[in-house]
Amino acid sequence: MGRLPQSSGSWGLDHRRLYRNRAVHGVGYLVKLVKDFPPNFDKINAAFDLRGRKGIFYCYGDIIYSPHSHIIPPELEMHEQVHSTQQGADIEGWWDQYIENPAFRLAQEIPAHREEWRYLFNHGNRNQRRRALKTTVRRLSNGFYGNIITPREAKRVLQNGF
Ligand SMILES: [Zn+2]
Repeated sequence: MGRLPQSSGSWGLDHRRLYRNRAVHGVGYLVKLVKDFPPNFDKINAAFDLRGRKGIFYCYGDIIYSPHSHIIPPELEMHEQVHSTQQGADIEGWWDQYIENPAFRLAQEIPAHREEWRYLFNHGNRNQRRRALKTTVRRLSNGFYGNIITPREAKRVLQNGF
């Protein structure tokens, strides 16, 4: 699960242009984007209270559900592709654990955020690259995922394996 950056476009990246040219940037076609709520949205919403919140992406198997947008920033596509792989054949079971178990949620979000950071790192200038880690740390450690990790710890674990 991921969320649109608050200031989308602040990276100076034209996401629409990148999207058109994504073969050039190496972004794969493993998942497809569907403008709808995921099949288990009621369960997710009961745990996270997301109704009315826009810009949230939900991976369910090989589909990224995006109720409010046809466009996904490429770094978030990379993020959701990690979840697609994690879910494997037991999509519903993955989501149940993700919802109920904060330690499991954190274990899933760390590699997803690492790939998100890697994309930004590989496609930004030096200044953007420097900000990419700070931004990703903030995204992983804020309340959206239920305060599952402190910023200091998030920075440490993200860098470990980057
Ligand atoms: Zn996620």
